[in-house]
Amino acid sequence: MRLVLLGKPGSGKGTQAKQIAKKFGIAPISTGDLIRRAIADKSELGREFSSYSDRGLLVPDQLVLALVQESLGAAGNEGGFLLDGFPRTVPQAQSLEDWLLNRGHSLNGVLNIVVPSNILVERAVGRRFCVRDGSSYHVKFAPPKHPGICDQCGGALQQRDDDREEVVNQRLLQYEQKTSPLVGFYQLRGKLINIDGVGTPLEVEGRIAAALGSGS
Ligand code: AMP
Repeated sequence: MRLVLLGKPGSGKGTQAKQIAKKFGIAPISTGDLIRRAIADKSELGREFSSYSDRGLLVPDQLVLALVQESLGAAGNEGGFLLDGFPRTVPQAQSLEDWLLNRGHSLNGVLNIVVPSNILVERAVGRRFCVRDGSSYHVKFAPPKHPGICDQCGGALQQRDDDREEVVNQRLLQYEQKTSPLVGFYQLRGKLINIDGVGTPLEVEGRIAAALGSGS
């Protein structure tokens, strides 16, 4: 199973990616997570990444392609993968298509999680994650039992730097300009599956499972 997950910032992509990957036993590959890891490691590449992502801009294609290739190589040869946050530009999508074609493969589907723009900013700005175990919360929609503290491990909850409102707005603009053409790109290839992303994470998960024909 080789899947791509498309969706604007705040569409619930990351949450759904983890669930779908678990359900289908495939490797979740999140370029956002790979980029945040490189930034946390304070590597030279990480510093370059943060000069873009801190401002809500996309990292240049060449850098992302180099980063994603290694994970893709391992997962592509085994059970498959679920790409979360990649591709985000037409050249990235073209590179992925060529990469798969060279190995005699193609994507099974591209899930496009659709959420109206007015809901997205509230969803993204209220997100919090645990610095210790990475669990995610939302101050309004999925609050922890005690404000600022992880229910699972007691770790401190933090907001992602790029979830501040002005950065979220810039990320939405980048999506419109650079990522939204991928909807047409995959529609033309008969791969696009639109998923209504309004509702609880469980409701959205059910719609995805139904669309992929996995029953529940
Ligand atoms: P995400 O967690 O998917 O929202 O990604 C966080 C940030 O990482 C984005 O705002 C971009 O700066 C960067 N990023 C993640 N994936 C890509 C990609 N495929 N192409 C370019 N930049 C990316």
